[in-house]
Amino acid sequence: MTTLHTLIIGGGLSGLTLGIAIAKTGRRVSIISAAPSTLQLNGGSMELLGSIDGQTVTHPIEAIPSLPEEHPYRKIGAGACATLAQEAVSLLSDTGIYMDGNAEINHWRITPLGVTKPAWLSLRGMATATQPDRLPWSSATLVNLPGFMDNPIHLMAHNLSMLGCKVTVRDIEVEGLSRPRRLASEMRAANLARTIGIGSKLRRLAEAINQTCTNDEAVLLPAIVGMEDDYPVNLLRRWVNAPLHFLATMPPSVPGTRMAGQLRHYFKMLGGKLLSAETVCRAEMTTDHVTALFTTKSPTIPITAEHYVLASGSLMSQGLLATRDAIVEPLFGLDVDAPVNRDNWSHYGLMGDQPFMRCGVITDATLHPLKNGIPIDNLHVIGSILSGHNPLTMGDSQGVDLLTALSVAHQTLI
Ligand SMILES: Cc1cc2nc3c(=O)[nH]c(=O)nc-3n(C[C@H](O)[C@H](O)[C@H](O)COP(=O)(O)OP(=O)(O)OC[C@H]3O[C@@H](n4cnc5c(N)ncnc54)[C@H](O)[C@@H]3O)c2cc1C
Repeated sequence: MTTLHTLIIGGGLSGLTLGIAIAKTGRRVSIISAAPSTLQLNGGSMELLGSIDGQTVTHPIEAIPSLPEEHPYRKIGAGACATLAQEAVSLLSDTGIYMDGNAEINHWRITPLGVTKPAWLSLRGMATATQPDRLPWSSATLVNLPGFMDNPIHLMAHNLSMLGCKVTVRDIEVEGLSRPRRLASEMRAANLARTIGIGSKLRRLAEAINQTCTNDEAVLLPAIVGMEDDYPVNLLRRWVNAPLHFLATMPPSVPGTRMAGQLRHYFKMLGGKLLSAETVCRAEMTTDHVTALFTTKSPTIPITAEHYVLASGSLMSQGLLATRDAIVEPLFGLDVDAPVNRDNWSHYGLMGDQPFMRCGVITDATLHPLKNGIPIDNLHVIGSILSGHNPLTMGDSQGVDLLTALSVAHQTLI
């Protein structure tokens, strides 16, 4: 059997993107992933760069040279970022994820609370705006299923009304959907999407919307259809008489779950091997080289590859761990950029800039990590575990995932 070309630890957006890019060339690639990734939190939009030092960024590629040197985009370079951003869009569309947007200029996504945030890409059909303080409609109807749990509908309507759009909330009754039958959680977006499917309930949902919303400039509906692909999304948009746009919901999100499934499916279709619910628990290495990895299910069987890639996410996915005294990378013991004193990991303001969000693995210019200051030559690091960026305050999360993954793909394929 031929040697494994690349072994990726973590099957989130970064790991799957790299896996797909490598599998497309016919090389042998495996992903080992412990648990569902944070992609399921994603509301249907992707960010490239939304803010620097509290200032909103409108032209992300143009703004890259103003980022601190340690930011992953600076390591890749602004010109290469622009090229990789285009490559990312085409990779996503190959998997059936069709997104609108432009790396040169941000548009505005609408959050589950009804406020706008800068975005690079949004799934076709999501409600978006071209200006931060103005929706593209003068009036819109926000459709509500009574008992729906994943959007504070009236708060959302109020916030959207502040964006120059008269928003009216209308409750609709759809047999089998309008109220929970046994548990309140039946009225969560993901459960509704499973129930609606593509059959008669989807048709009834369209009919109920058409009965309630006549001659509307825009109809807004929480994203409650299309768990596996966008077929039901497109059907519903065709059946509803008014222009229909979907709104991001609280997680777990239907568009995010759909994108995760589509990426996994495409990776496997290309011949990639995905070991889910499996944790890489130990690494064997010399000072500057990884020699083998071991998993919890087969702790004595070494897995070897030409290249290893760490895409294990940050604290949320346990790619980083907060111990009593330090924030550490638990698998290889890589050098981590984190405040030394535990008291400085977080601040009191819940919604403020939390220093722990900036923690990450330190790499050289080619995204090789350092251990005790020495680069590991056959290991790369991609995605949110990287140091030098901050998904919450910089609005750069999916851009860092996609661009670092594709940058490493090019490096390992040379
Ligand atoms: C607090 C917080 C909140 C966020 N909220 C949102 C949000 O609401 N919406 C949004 O779009 N983005 C959000 N993000 C950003 C998002 O997490 C990242 O941008 C990004 O999508 C992470 O992708 P990733 O591929 O780097 O890692 P992840 O998506 O975190 O995936 C890493 C994967 O690696 C696996 N893994 C970890 N260790 C191992 C191991 N030893 N062996 C095998 N597998 C392993 C994990 O189980 C996981 O599946 C948030 C980030 C943070 C930190």
